[in-house]
Amino acid sequence: MKFISTRKSSPSVSASVAIINGLAPDGGLYVPESIPSLNLNNAPSYNDYPALAHFVLSPYFEGDVLEKDLYDICKEAFTFPIPLHYHNKNEAVLELFHGPTAAFKDFGARFLAIVMERLLTISKNTLTILVATSGDTGGAVAAAFHKRQNIEVKVLFPKGRVSARQERQLTCYEENITSFAVDGSFDDCQKMVKEAFMDSALSHHHLTSANSINLGRLLPQMVYAFSSSLEMFEKTGEKSTLIIPSGNVGNSCASFYAKEMGAPIKEIILSVNNNTTIVDYLKSGTYSGRASIATLANAMDVGDPSNMERLFHHSSFLHNMKAFSVSDEEIKRSIKEVYEKHSYIVCPHTATGEKVRKELHLNSPTIVYATAHPAKFETIVEPIIQKKIEIPPLLNELLEKEQHFTSITADYHLLF
Ligand SMILES: *Cc1c(COP(=O)(O)O)cnc(C)c1O
Repeated sequence: MKFISTRKSSPSVSASVAIINGLAPDGGLYVPESIPSLNLNNAPSYNDYPALAHFVLSPYFEGDVLEKDLYDICKEAFTFPIPLHYHNKNEAVLELFHGPTAAFKDFGARFLAIVMERLLTISKNTLTILVATSGDTGGAVAAAFHKRQNIEVKVLFPKGRVSARQERQLTCYEENITSFAVDGSFDDCQKMVKEAFMDSALSHHHLTSANSINLGRLLPQMVYAFSSSLEMFEKTGEKSTLIIPSGNVGNSCASFYAKEMGAPIKEIILSVNNNTTIVDYLKSGTYSGRASIATLANAMDVGDPSNMERLFHHSSFLHNMKAFSVSDEEIKRSIKEVYEKHSYIVCPHTATGEKVRKELHLNSPTIVYATAHPAKFETIVEPIIQKKIEIPPLLNELLEKEQHFTSITADYHLLF
């Protein structure tokens, strides 16, 4: 399988090259030349996650240097459960938060880290990854790349502007991870990363990024669209509607691939917060990216989603897409209602999906993606439900570690 650039003026490459490159040389995003369809009669059980991951990802690694390693990579990457929690027969929540940093980004980040480590061993190269983070991404990337051979990671976060628990997750590592508390905003951090990439004096560091446009993060996110819809299909005999809390639309894009490949998915519906770029686009037909607005579901505060270019490339995805926006007030009410009705605690992101599910009144199976554990957003959720949220053990381990970071001004030279 080859991957081409959405801007169509870069050579087509294998999955491994697309993953190492991140962005295509023409500035576009890598997309598969064609989307394979799978014969689900041969699919492993939805319970055997590494085997299912291998089954789903195999066509994309056909002919790749890592083709033979793929099963081992899946086995090493996906070591935690991905359960469907049922409110009732037709309404389930896909708990994507049982990984090391308690959010779905662990899937993509771990797969990416393992693939990159193996590729560097083969090519005898080294890489330095720069990540600017407003909270969740940096933690997942740091955890996934910690102690990996031949890879150094520099995490930049805006000092005093991430939550206390987020800061702890960003600063609990040593060895190959260095964390920088930048005196500035998230935009300043992103600007520093861009400037470092453009400075040819730094080329010997082999700088790269690990952000959500990387194919190595996108591909593994198809797998849980399969596992959850297959489980629901086995239990109800019906295709599921997926409701996906969205920001950069990586999860949604991956789920569209899964649907196209044959996963028993009826429809894909995006829930967003007050950042309504996609909702407005679907209404008006005119896309206009804009600055982001701060909301309670902060990992979805995206005004110009970076994976939109992939959705525009696969125009059939857009014709079948629905999206609804959920305000901060509605997020709070949704957290409360889900808790009262189902004794189940959701994070503010997941709450947007639950609100959309409630409004739609569908009479068929619906799966809401639970993108993060509520304990990561305890300052928002605990006052609403009037209850302390238990911290998952893996997350607690990170939160109790000693913090290591360097405070710097917003000058990228200080990172080296
Ligand atoms: C990143 C993130 C999202 C948004 O996911 P996209 O793939 O960027 O659309 C939603 N919820 C949480 C908790 C996240 O960390």
